[in-house]
Amino acid sequence: MSSCTVCPRAAGEGLHACPHHAAELRAWLAELPVQAELLAACVASSASPAQGRRGGGRAHSPAPVDWRVLALLGPGHPDARHPDDDGTAPIRPLLDAWAGTIAYTHPATYRDPHGTAHTTPCEAAHPRHGDTITGWCTWLTAYLPYALTQEWVGDLHHQVGDLVHRARAITGHHPHRRPYTAAPCPQCRAYGLVAVDGQPGLLCDTCGHHLPHPPTPERTPAS
Ligand SMILES: [Zn+2]
Ligand SMILES: [Zn+2]
Repeated sequence: MSSCTVCPRAAGEGLHACPHHAAELRAWLAELPVQAELLAACVASSASPAQGRRGGGRAHSPAPVDWRVLALLGPGHPDARHPDDDGTAPIRPLLDAWAGTIAYTHPATYRDPHGTAHTTPCEAAHPRHGDTITGWCTWLTAYLPYALTQEWVGDLHHQVGDLVHRARAITGHHPHRRPYTAAPCPQCRAYGLVAVDGQPGLLCDTCGHHLPHPPTPERTPAS
């Protein structure tokens, strides 16, 4: 049993991320396209027609586009495995770089931790939804089962988390979480299930277990 590359918890056989951090990474990849749209809206509103430039009054100048937004939505060629890590990595190029890393290391046939053989020759990454933030998030989510078997998954988790936290700090948007109290988590028995906006199924906050469908209510927990 290996341990998680993010926390001291145990990861499953052949994996390098615990269920909690695997689920968190999956959730972030689902959230990034939403954050990117909100960031683009920030740029659009800053670019609206300038008013009151005459007179030089600063109070009437159009709001300058936040450089943090431009950094996130901008171009670049970050090295996924050796990032500068100065908090300016752009979203799309960083995801693209990670897809490149996965495509480069992904064997034509590999066995996942459940013993299932996958034959998916992968010479270069071609997102079906295009070379966009949404396209790369979809691509990376599809290859997540493979990424979780790699020791560098902790770096991927760290970098995607950094993008999400930088975006949230600007947009102020945090996915809404609704506790599900009708039943405990079937895996760890804690009452820690939550439904997170934009994500299918339920997530256990305690152990990271993901359920595609809500479990059958067992009892009404004492309030
Ligand atoms: Zn962990
Ligand atoms: Zn649980």
